Amino acid sequence: MGVKRIVIKVGSHVLTENGAIAKERIFALVELISMLQLYNYQVILVSSGAVSAGHTLLPLDRNSVANKQALAAIGQPLLLKMYQEKFAKFNLICSQVLLSADVFEVSAQIRHAKVAIDTLLDNGVVPIINENDTVSVEELIFGDNDRLSAHVAHYFDAKMLIILSDIDAFYDKDPNRYNDAKRRDIVSTISQEELEAEHTPNNEFATGGIVTKLQSADFMMRHNKEMFLASGFELNDVKSFLLDGKYLGGTLFKKIDKEELYEK
Ligand code: ADP
Repeated sequence: MGVKRIVIKVGSHVLTENGAIAKERIFALVELISMLQLYNYQVILVSSGAVSAGHTLLPLDRNSVANKQALAAIGQPLLLKMYQEKFAKFNLICSQVLLSADVFEVSAQIRHAKVAIDTLLDNGVVPIINENDTVSVEELIFGDNDRLSAHVAHYFDAKMLIILSDIDAFYDKDPNRYNDAKRRDIVSTISQEELEAEHTPNNEFATGGIVTKLQSADFMMRHNKEMFLASGFELNDVKSFLLDGKYLGGTLFKKIDKEELYEK
């Protein structure tokens, strides 16, 4: 069986609890990654959480950009130290790769970064990627790791992007605002209205970070790749999806070929 390369992106709400790093959740995530490696997966982790980790050491006001940059610089090594400790429990080595959006605009830089990622993965090392918040020029930054992780998946040859979020799936409307919101099991197209919801604040899709997740799903599908959105608090759905191909929760974003439709 061939090696399956995937990207797992975990959001800051999952990684932090009351402003501090949620160590048990990091442990559960690391345990999942170590298990996936046993099943021939190569996992690239995209992890947020540096600013919150920094804030536990030095509680600067997070509303200023300069403070956020400083907090990211303080927190990133602390976050990696935690990951290192947890991965060591499973005899795994992890590594830090800081990227900025402009890397993906220069093909020589993408190639260069890919060589490093390939070498790490070929040696069983888990690359942990984050946006280099401290030096990113404001117009260039992705600002969220959802779109960064979709670029990472595409340019570093992963088949699939897994987004572990504070929400357990994509719903037909915001489940935090509407009790009757229904989970979407599989999504194969995303409308322009949903993709551009950011620009229309009154739109029901505009709350939370769902728009950047939909943009990432759209990017993946346009490149004939899949994205799975599931809970980062409770890892059973993602586990059964990756290991058994079955899931009770979560949403799979997958382009469906016309031929596949006719076959049914
Ligand atoms: P993370 O920090 O994990 O990246 P965000 O909090 O940024 O996640 O984004 C997820 C949030 O998006 C959910 O908590 C939810 O309130 C909101 N949301 C808005 N519309 C939807 C929808 N249609 N389906 C799911 N979540 C939605």
